[in-house]
Amino acid sequence: MQFDIRSFLESGRKPFEAHFEADFSKADFGGYSVSTPAVCDFTATLTEDGAELLLCVRAHIDAECARCLEPLTRDYDFTREYFVRDRDLEDSDFELPCNENGCLDLEELAYQELIFEVPAVLLCSADCQGLCPICGKKKAAGCSCQPADNAAPADARLSILKQLLS
Ligand SMILES: [Zn+2]
Ligand SMILES: [Zn+2]
Repeated sequence: MQFDIRSFLESGRKPFEAHFEADFSKADFGGYSVSTPAVCDFTATLTEDGAELLLCVRAHIDAECARCLEPLTRDYDFTREYFVRDRDLEDSDFELPCNENGCLDLEELAYQELIFEVPAVLLCSADCQGLCPICGKKKAAGCSCQPADNAAPADARLSILKQLLS
């Protein structure tokens, strides 16, 4: 969905409101996916100095724990505020996804904000112990592997370092 900020700044006497769903099922988020459409609300209000924009995004994400690889889901619900003046549209550093005609791409904006909102590393729980490096099973499930500390260091340089430290 496109929002024409330039026209709105010129003649937006009435607030603008839009409710839309953004399909991110094919979008690239790196470590997670958004298979159901994100539900977004966007409003724009004109003030004396410019336009106040408000974007609310509700999204459900699917990912896997960065330590134990268990599937996990998270729900996000957040709001971002922006303030846009006429001169921002001419500024090459303007950070909102706006084309040369002054139209804001609302789906793209929601996509960018979702990337900012979701942490790069997701864990099933803050104290997830991850996988056993020997057998590959979840440590929390318990395994009979011996801790690696007692094994001989694989790297000779490490063993020299150990001798120096002791
Ligand atoms: Zn985990
Ligand atoms: Zn193990």
